[in-house]
Amino acid sequence: MDSTFVQNVPSELICYICKDYFTDPFTLTCGHNFCTPCLCLLWEDAQHPPRCPVCRAVSPWIDFKSIIFAAKKVHASKESVACQLPNSAKQVCRVHLVVKDLFCPTDKSPLCLHCANSQRHAIHRHSPISQAAEQCREKLLVQMKSLWKSRQKNQKNLNKEYNLFRVWQGFVNLRMMMIRAEYPKVYQYLQEEKQKHLESLAVEGKIIFNQLRRNVGRMRHMGKLLRKMYEELKEMCCETDVDLFQDLGDIMKRSQIMQLHIPQPVNPQLSSWTITGMSERLNNFRVYLTLDHNISNYRVALFEDLRHLQCSPDYQDMPHSPASPQYMPLWGAQTFTSGKHYWEVDVGNSCNWIIGLCKESWINRNGMLLNSEGIFLLLCIQVDDICRLFSASPPLRHYIQRPQGWIGVFLDYECGTVSFVNVAQSSLICNLRSCSFSCPLRPFICYGPK
Ligand SMILES: [Zn+2]
Ligand SMILES: [Zn+2]
Ligand SMILES: [Zn+2]
Ligand SMILES: [Zn+2]
Repeated sequence: MDSTFVQNVPSELICYICKDYFTDPFTLTCGHNFCTPCLCLLWEDAQHPPRCPVCRAVSPWIDFKSIIFAAKKVHASKESVACQLPNSAKQVCRVHLVVKDLFCPTDKSPLCLHCANSQRHAIHRHSPISQAAEQCREKLLVQMKSLWKSRQKNQKNLNKEYNLFRVWQGFVNLRMMMIRAEYPKVYQYLQEEKQKHLESLAVEGKIIFNQLRRNVGRMRHMGKLLRKMYEELKEMCCETDVDLFQDLGDIMKRSQIMQLHIPQPVNPQLSSWTITGMSERLNNFRVYLTLDHNISNYRVALFEDLRHLQCSPDYQDMPHSPASPQYMPLWGAQTFTSGKHYWEVDVGNSCNWIIGLCKESWINRNGMLLNSEGIFLLLCIQVDDICRLFSASPPLRHYIQRPQGWIGVFLDYECGTVSFVNVAQSSLICNLRSCSFSCPLRPFICYGPK
């Protein structure tokens, strides 16, 4: 924009941040106006709470997702100054020496009235140039909205991916410890299998680690590209009508293509290997569960709790099911206070279930929350079409194949361990070690909504 020209425009029509006409203006509670895109860019990395860049007043948290381009106030102010544009800024037809007032969408170029009436343009539908420009800018804003959404999505993915990348090696090490503990020392012939098992785990863990590292890099780079493209689109909004017509097609295409190439998060899963003889060994401690039908109708908040934990702070994005989901909490009739006990539970094909053991005190408490003490559970929950496996408590995600069918639960009261076993594969799902049991433990099963 011509700077001498902008100087002559009343300051209330100019955005303080970009020093140009407002693009989709937004008024803060202090009364100062800015372009919505300018605020998006300024506040994206800013410390909370965000402040007005003019008077430094703290602005209440703004949900940009809902206000962004919510109203069609696009360039209302720009239109009002359009009449002030000097004639040199408009194009003059070289043949007819009059201002080009019309726009030909077929040729994507401005025309004068005489050219528009010529043979060549006879079948075209022409519109006033200001109206065509307005439509272009609206298209631009729609594109910006979509680009900003993609950027936010990418940023969210990046945060999750980076968090996983940071803890990944720790998880692999923990899993190796679990596996090592499941090989009994007495069977010398299993030493070779144990070694192979641990080596494959280390290799697989390393491959996923590198995938995560690459993905974090890609997502960071994409975040920068998306931001740059957004700034480019914002600048485009402020261009003269003539430049706008020329460059719009290209920039829209580039923006769309960029959004198609946003890196997807890795969904890491370590393989499960059979541990020879594990099922047979555990079967020596087999008990058959009978269920206590007197304890029931408790509200089990575990699934909601876990979902919350998984999705926060983006919990509001979750598709909420207002109807209360069908839980089926079941308790074993017997409690255990010593010894080794093994039982099996069929979870079938379901993605939402909880099995394990808990203290009586947990059952009696209202809500039965996840971060409580005295729960030794394996939880499977479906979030965003992905089945996730956790142990509790504390909640720890396990990145292994989802078990289906029969799951074995093995309690060693004196050793303070609970192991979960995939029965069909004779493989270890996970074990909770160094728990200290000091009171009766009751088997617990809960089937969540399918
Ligand atoms: Zn601005
Ligand atoms: Zn202010
Ligand atoms: Zn002409
Ligand atoms: Zn035409």
